[in-house]
Amino acid sequence: MLKDNLDYVMKQVKKSCDEKSLNIEDITVIAVSKTKPVEMIEELYNIGCKNFGENKVQELIDKYEVLPKDIQWHMIGHLQRNKVKYIVDKVALIHSVDSLRLAEAIEKEAEKKECIVNILIEVNMAREESKYGVFPEDLEKLLRKINTLSHIRVKGLMTVAPNAKNPEENREIFTKMKNLSVDIKEKNIDNITMSILSMGMSNDYTIAIEEGASMIRVGTSIFGARNYNIE
Ligand SMILES: *Cc1c(COP(=O)(O)O)cnc(C)c1O
Repeated sequence: MLKDNLDYVMKQVKKSCDEKSLNIEDITVIAVSKTKPVEMIEELYNIGCKNFGENKVQELIDKYEVLPKDIQWHMIGHLQRNKVKYIVDKVALIHSVDSLRLAEAIEKEAEKKECIVNILIEVNMAREESKYGVFPEDLEKLLRKINTLSHIRVKGLMTVAPNAKNPEENREIFTKMKNLSVDIKEKNIDNITMSILSMGMSNDYTIAIEEGASMIRVGTSIFGARNYNIE
């Protein structure tokens, strides 16, 4: 069943890539495994999935401990400063950095553990009150502070688009994100690259790809619906 789901998602990804003459190898599909058991992750790992996303520190560490070490773990949820120390040397990418204080906490722990941490800056493009992320107009200022931190590499931007009934409603958000990423890239800020644009979830990943996503974060469409009650 997981293989069928993954095949279906990859087929949709391919379709969007073909439509826009994109290379499917340039798109990274992150299987968002939050709330799902390690057995399901293993099943996907065995058919070639290497990128998994989690939104809780404890859950990420628990899974990290028991699963193959060549898995690329993505921290996609809100990260508290006091929990940074548990994951800095375990994750491939932190998608959800949205403040200088959090970046400084990552810098401090990375220095202690002598590692370099790849991060994305989360942008609240839709300006939703319920969402984390910096507003687009505050992004450049934040980048010009974070780029002095020597154990951090900013690789690009991430956004969580609104939970829209019709995913077409999010197209404009994705286009704006792409434009923002290009604008920042053109400023050539030291130590900052804009090679990754993480946007699009089960509901709207095809649209995100069409508008320039290089990473999509897909949970439900691969793993099935989440049941938070039995956790
Ligand atoms: C849960 C989650 C996803 C995946 O959501 P689905 O709709 O299940 O694909 C993607 N990104 C973030 C930040 C999430 O928390």
